[in-house]
Amino acid sequence: MDADGDAGGRGEIPWILHLDMDAFFASIEVRDDPSLQGLPVVVGGGGSRGVVAAASYPARTRGIRSAMPMATARRLAPDLVIVPPRMDEYRRVSAQVMELLGTVVADIEQISVDEAFLDVRGARRLFGTPEEIAALLRRQIREQLGLPSSVGGSVSRAVAKIASAQAKPDGMLIVPAARTAEFLAPLPVSVISGIGPKAQAALERIGAHRVGQLRDVPVTTLARALGPRAAEVARLADGSDRTGLGRLVKDRSLGTERTWDEDLTDPAEVRRRITLMADDVARQLRRSRLVARTVVLKLRSPDGTTITRSSTLDHHTASGERLREQVVALWERERERMRRVRLAGVRVTHLETAAGMPVQSELTARSAGWADLEAAMDRAVDRFGAGTLSRGSTLGPAPDGAQRTAARPAPDEG
Ligand SMILES: [Mg+2]
Repeated sequence: MDADGDAGGRGEIPWILHLDMDAFFASIEVRDDPSLQGLPVVVGGGGSRGVVAAASYPARTRGIRSAMPMATARRLAPDLVIVPPRMDEYRRVSAQVMELLGTVVADIEQISVDEAFLDVRGARRLFGTPEEIAALLRRQIREQLGLPSSVGGSVSRAVAKIASAQAKPDGMLIVPAARTAEFLAPLPVSVISGIGPKAQAALERIGAHRVGQLRDVPVTTLARALGPRAAEVARLADGSDRTGLGRLVKDRSLGTERTWDEDLTDPAEVRRRITLMADDVARQLRRSRLVARTVVLKLRSPDGTTITRSSTLDHHTASGERLREQVVALWERERERMRRVRLAGVRVTHLETAAGMPVQSELTARSAGWADLEAAMDRAVDRFGAGTLSRGSTLGPAPDGAQRTAARPAPDEG
């Protein structure tokens, strides 16, 4: 691959790197206590209701994973070493990692405490090919911070992230544009961000177990299985995706909307439905590692009268509780005018990536609160499908049939 010419990336030279620290919290603990080297180490709460926030690779080879109950982890590894989390230290090291990346690459999009996308086009003149830049970053992180990391590279943001996951642990994988489809073909469809167990099951029902098989599925069939994300997934499967940095958020909104066959006339019922929608939207945000500042409530009466009301918060959020408060407040102001509701929708705009959001901290036992509860609910919903869990105040059927309008990729672990 050439190192000169085409420095602007007009051609098909991979220019997006995804750098992801390996078992970040656990690696910091092992670095700071070398006697833990080679042992199944997990970071998390050790109590009866503790959850694994991060697992070292020796722990992972025993089947231990993030978000697993600590009791299960103990069963899998009786010699398990449980280290209580030190969030302040992880945040400090995270800042060091990002600062180090910034000395080589100008365009960085941090997507979590230990992950970032890098646009390396501007760094090529000084630092060489994408492979050389990736190797340099990994070496500097290893030498200066004593930590392992993995890097994936591609002409597509989504593929770069899949490549870094394939490179783990402590590796790198740069996928040439022309070989993208070939690289993805043998991988299970679940490597695609946003293809959770439900979508995976839907794809398997139409015979698509591996990404390569998605290319043989007619787009209309794919759309029935995946909804609005079908086109994006099809582009990924055939190697034509070119989603770059930052575009994840620009001009995007997330939301859910539903029309009912029969009008809703009971205000308590409307309130309950929009509350569930707010939860669903918050879950979409957290899965996509996004935060939003503006919440929009849309209501339509049977005669076609439509009102759209929005509320902008002081701070960005991905909290279901915050979104619920807002939509309920908007509803309270309109309920006299909207005695019959045929359609309701909840949408969020002014999205940002949740940069630096300590996504793993939600699992620590000490910070119990809404973040924990919501993360636990997300995991349960991912595992069992929407509609299996509701808060006490919203018990009843979930808004099934609600249409996702812009579901985004889910985070992974590692
Ligand atoms: Mg990681």
